[in-house]
Amino acid sequence: MSTLFTNYARRSVHLVRGEGTRVYDDNNKAYLDFTSGIAVVSLGHAHPSIVDAVKKQSEKLWHTSNLFESPEQEMLAKTLMKGTPFSRAFFCNSGAEANEAAIKLARKHTGKQVIITFEQSFHGRTFGAMSATGQEKVKFGFGPMLETFRTIPFNDSRALEAAVDEDVAAIMLEVIQGEGGVNTITPEFASKIQEICMANGILCIVDEVQTGIGRTGSKYAYEHTVLQPDIMTLAKGLGGGFPIGAMLGHEKLAESFGPGTHGTTFGGNPLAVAVAQTVVDYVFEEEFLSEVERKSTYLMEKLKDSLANNHIEILGKGLLIGIRCTDEVTPIISIAEEEGLLLVQAGPNVIRLLPPLTVSEQEIDEAIALLTTSMRVPSQ
Ligand SMILES: *Cc1c(COP(=O)(O)O)cnc(C)c1O
Repeated sequence: MSTLFTNYARRSVHLVRGEGTRVYDDNNKAYLDFTSGIAVVSLGHAHPSIVDAVKKQSEKLWHTSNLFESPEQEMLAKTLMKGTPFSRAFFCNSGAEANEAAIKLARKHTGKQVIITFEQSFHGRTFGAMSATGQEKVKFGFGPMLETFRTIPFNDSRALEAAVDEDVAAIMLEVIQGEGGVNTITPEFASKIQEICMANGILCIVDEVQTGIGRTGSKYAYEHTVLQPDIMTLAKGLGGGFPIGAMLGHEKLAESFGPGTHGTTFGGNPLAVAVAQTVVDYVFEEEFLSEVERKSTYLMEKLKDSLANNHIEILGKGLLIGIRCTDEVTPIISIAEEEGLLLVQAGPNVIRLLPPLTVSEQEIDEAIALLTTSMRVPSQ
C-alpha cells in the first residue's frame, strides 16, 4: 500500500537519471522525454550550465528570506522584463502562487472584485487559482469557489462583451491553453480583449506559466498577439527544473503592492534565482529562440507527413504542440511509453508534445518514428 495520497494517477515508471532529452528508469531503460516534466526542463536534463550554477550558488548562500535586499532578484527581473511593458517583479515558488499574486494585485489596484476567465483554462490548484480555472474536474468537491470569477467561452467575443461591466477588475487568460487542450487564442479575440481592457480600464493578466520562457519560440507567447498585458505570471520553464515562479507587472501597479501587502518565505531565494538567471540568459539569446522556431517547423511538418493517414489535427506553437485525435489518447500514451517515448495529455483527446527546447533534429526524428508506431498499434 502506498504511503502517499493518491491525488496523482502515477505511471509505473521510476525515473532515476537524465541527460539532455533522455531519461533512464531503474532498469536503465532509456526514454525520450517529450514531457520535459510538464514544460519545465526547458534546457534538458542535467544541463551543464545549470548543474554548474547550482553547485556554485549552493556553496555560497542558499537562503536569506526577503528581509534583505537582493541585487540578484533585481537582475533576474531586469532580464525578464527587457522589451516588455513590465517594470516590477515579485518572485515566488510556483505557477499557482504567481497567479494568486496576480489576482490579489488586480483586486487591490482596481478596488474591484470580478475577474473574467475562460472555459478550459488552467491556473493552478490553490483556492484562488482553482476558482479561476475553467475546468469543472479541477473544482469538483471543493466548493463553494471564490464567487467573483466569471468564466466564459474562450475565443468568443460576444460572450466577452456580455460579461463586461463596471465590477470587472481584470481579464485573465492563457494565450495558448496548455492543460485544456492546446487551444490558441484567435487574433480577433486578442484584439477584442485589448480593446475592452483599454476602453474600460480593465487589467489584462496573461498566465504564461506554461507558454513563457521560450516555449513558443518567442520569450513570451503574448508577443505573437496584439495584447499589451498589465500583469504576467511565470513558473514552469523559468527554473529549468528548480522551483521558482514570478509575477511581473506594469509600473502603474507598483504602489498597490507596498511593504507588508504580500509575500512568501522562499520566494526568489538565492539558489532559485541563480538557476533561473542561468536558464533565462541561455534561452533569451536570439539565436536560441530562432532555433526553437526552426525545430518547431521541422517537427510540425514531419508530424503532418507521418500522420497524414490518421484523423488528427496539429495544434500549438513553438515546442508546445498538440495532436488532436478523434478518440481518447490514453492508450497511445501508454504504448509510446513502452516504446521509449514519454508524452503527456491535454484533455482526453489531445497528445501534448513538450520536448526540451534543446531537443535535436535527430531526437525529433526518433520521437516521430516511435509515435507513428504507437498510433498504428490498434488499441482494444
Ligand atoms: C501548470 C500551470 C499552472 C500551475 O502551476 P503550478 O506550478 O503547478 O502551481 C498555472 N497556469 C498554467 C497555465 C499552467 O500550465
